[in-house]
Amino acid sequence: MKMGRYDVVIKNGMVIDPSQGIHEVKDVAISEGKIVDVRKGVNASESKYVIDADGMIVTPGLVDIHVHCCYKIAHLGVDPELLCLAKGSTTVVDAGSTGELNFMGFRRYVIDNSRTRIFALINIESQGMIEYARANQKWPSLITGRDEMFINIEGTLEVIRRNRDVILGIKWAHHGLEGVKLARKAADEAGCLLMAENHHQPETLKYMKKGDIITHLYHGIKIEQHDGLLDADGKVQPEFFKAAKRGVIFDVGHGARSFRWPVAEKGMEQGIRPHTISTDIHAESFNGPAYDMPTTMSKFLHLGLSLEEVVEASTARPAEVIGKKGEIGTLRPGACGDVTVLKMLEGKFPLLDVEGEGRICKKLLKAVRVVRNGEIVY
Ligand SMILES: [Zn+2]
Repeated sequence: MKMGRYDVVIKNGMVIDPSQGIHEVKDVAISEGKIVDVRKGVNASESKYVIDADGMIVTPGLVDIHVHCCYKIAHLGVDPELLCLAKGSTTVVDAGSTGELNFMGFRRYVIDNSRTRIFALINIESQGMIEYARANQKWPSLITGRDEMFINIEGTLEVIRRNRDVILGIKWAHHGLEGVKLARKAADEAGCLLMAENHHQPETLKYMKKGDIITHLYHGIKIEQHDGLLDADGKVQPEFFKAAKRGVIFDVGHGARSFRWPVAEKGMEQGIRPHTISTDIHAESFNGPAYDMPTTMSKFLHLGLSLEEVVEASTARPAEVIGKKGEIGTLRPGACGDVTVLKMLEGKFPLLDVEGEGRICKKLLKAVRVVRNGEIVY
């Protein structure tokens, strides 16, 4: 091991950092867990470790704001170390896997013991997502009936108060509109953000304020006639344009049921782009069709976003949405030393949506090196 000014230098990569408008071959230097320099000609002999990124893309560590990494706490949880961090996501937000009754187990056994930087949205339902158990398993309707929920706002607020350092907001998922009203009330009382699923539209949007997040933007599930982004004629419901104007954030949340190519194509044609790209990685989506952040990002390259736009929606923008602008999602000196090195494969890659419909994508991103707080973790 060499002694030097830097802990890690990433040499000669194509640095794409939309937070600073950088898209150029440069070196990135990290010291004591922080970014210290982004420029050409950093002296690598002054670094303990050197990553040769020639021909690679170097971005701020990816920020995935919709995952389920409550590994071994709830059945849908995946191991964040292998399926988030190793795939390029240095920061993730667990989107409501646990509620006030089981959040502390998630914190103690996963959040506090992971190298992945994990934040959480607490589920408005006290038990979180335990109904995501095993396929075909029947739970009592008291728990799983679509409109019957265990909700304890006081208990939820108390857990938020005691875990402000990691809980960023409240998640509403899976169940009826009554839940979104109570989630709105709790988010207002706690002064935190609300993430809601894109169901029961346009009703759900009425409860969303500036900075709140609608996830599963391009799902194709019809619960009612006009359930998500599009109406029965394939037109974007007008309430989405109004919501965008008042600052509601549109998030991808790919998952196992929530990304349809035709919905994304029609939505983007009509001007509804995602503010943030996220995977909704969980037990049923990690092995496809979502896989990981680089694969989900690649789908948006195919849909016509530029590489800079895709990187921005996966770094600087999600960091800002979760109130961490300047700390993560950027290679600005002083920010956390989180860097993802990506390889762009070129060829013909059939990427599937949640119904098995494919598109031949010409570009596929893969994470090849991940640095978190100045430590080369993969
Ligand atoms: Zn989810």
